[in-house]
Amino acid sequence: MQKVDYIIVGLGLAGVAFTRVLEQNNKTFVVFEDQSRQSSIVAGGMYNPVILKRFTPVWDAEAQLNVALPFYKELEEFLGATYDYPIDTYRLFTSIEEQNNWFAKSDHPFLSKYLVPKIIVKSFKGIEAKFGYGKVLHTGRIDTKKLLNDYKLYLKRKDCLQETSFNYDLIEQLEEEIKYKSIKADRVVFCEGFGIHKNPFFNYLPMNEVKGELITIHAPELEIDFVLKSSVFIMPLCDGLFKVGATFNWKDKTSIPTTEGRTELVDKLDKLIKVPYKIVEHVAGIRPTVKDRRPLVGTHPANAKIAILNGLGTRGVMIAPRVAVELFNHLEKGEQLRTEITIARFS
Ligand SMILES: Cc1cc2nc3c(=O)[nH]c(=O)nc-3n(C[C@H](O)[C@H](O)[C@H](O)COP(=O)(O)OP(=O)(O)OC[C@H]3O[C@@H](n4cnc5c(N)ncnc54)[C@H](O)[C@@H]3O)c2cc1C
Repeated sequence: MQKVDYIIVGLGLAGVAFTRVLEQNNKTFVVFEDQSRQSSIVAGGMYNPVILKRFTPVWDAEAQLNVALPFYKELEEFLGATYDYPIDTYRLFTSIEEQNNWFAKSDHPFLSKYLVPKIIVKSFKGIEAKFGYGKVLHTGRIDTKKLLNDYKLYLKRKDCLQETSFNYDLIEQLEEEIKYKSIKADRVVFCEGFGIHKNPFFNYLPMNEVKGELITIHAPELEIDFVLKSSVFIMPLCDGLFKVGATFNWKDKTSIPTTEGRTELVDKLDKLIKVPYKIVEHVAGIRPTVKDRRPLVGTHPANAKIAILNGLGTRGVMIAPRVAVELFNHLEKGEQLRTEITIARFS
């Protein structure tokens, strides 16, 4: 019988963040990952503290970035690779009203750190921008696919990863600890993203998951070194490659890329850029979004040994590291969870 402090189910952004916190605190663990979901792998990976539809702050943005950016930096040093690519974001204006709104919002005490209070009128080949752009500072992209692959390999080498489905029926709740097959653990933390709907302990929580599709294009004539945000975002990668996304579909619960999703992205892209491009990849995933748009953190109402870290929605990159630390401090130090994030709000 193997004895560990924790069993973790799911190795997306939530699972990586929590597992890394465990490692930093010298806790032992086994991670289960069955590749049934890929939200974190297909994600655009962007972090941006401003909602660019209405020019308003993202909930909890500053506190999240204060934990997230050092977290990714530490992982870069630990795994010897680059995951964080800081890059400015340009919001394409469509009217004078938007320009005026931008100026008004750039005076806001929080937003003034991010919104540059001027209109950028520079022209970029293939993009029509009659009303110019607004520049957002301190935004960037995390290469989530590489980060997850590298961390998974590392856990594999450390012999802490079981690449198989966690079977909920086989969990035995003992007085002192949890038993799962030949493993005894003090606690189980579920980080399954949309996989939560199969979890008998937590599938009562009100998810309102939303499918997203994203394409990668090769557009060698497109010369932008910033993320362009309009009806879609266009994010430079390298060698003339750009990610373009993303769609929002509340009905389709599959992770299969669709013709409708691709057509929607191509239609929007064609209105935005006038240079030739080729689609080289098309991916889809389900964002684990909650009805009230806040994360799901805490322990099961009837068993404090069973915990959850989920509900990262559309912003897993920014949210995951902060809520992982909060869950750890709750479980290990008895710190109270914020009312906005605790699952007790649904009991
Ligand atoms: C198209 C798209 C674009 C996005 N763009 C961005 C973006 O630019 N910036 C941003 O911050 N966020 C973005 N997101 C959202 C982000 O991807 C999510 O917030 C985040 O990935 C959620 O992470 P997670 O770990 O909770 O879930 P997941 O990534 O779904 O991870 C859950 C893991 O659990 C595993 N699992 C499930 N059940 C079991 C089981 N029974 N046994 C073993 N393993 C199991 C799954 O295989 C999976 O690996 C995007 C999402 C999509 C779909």
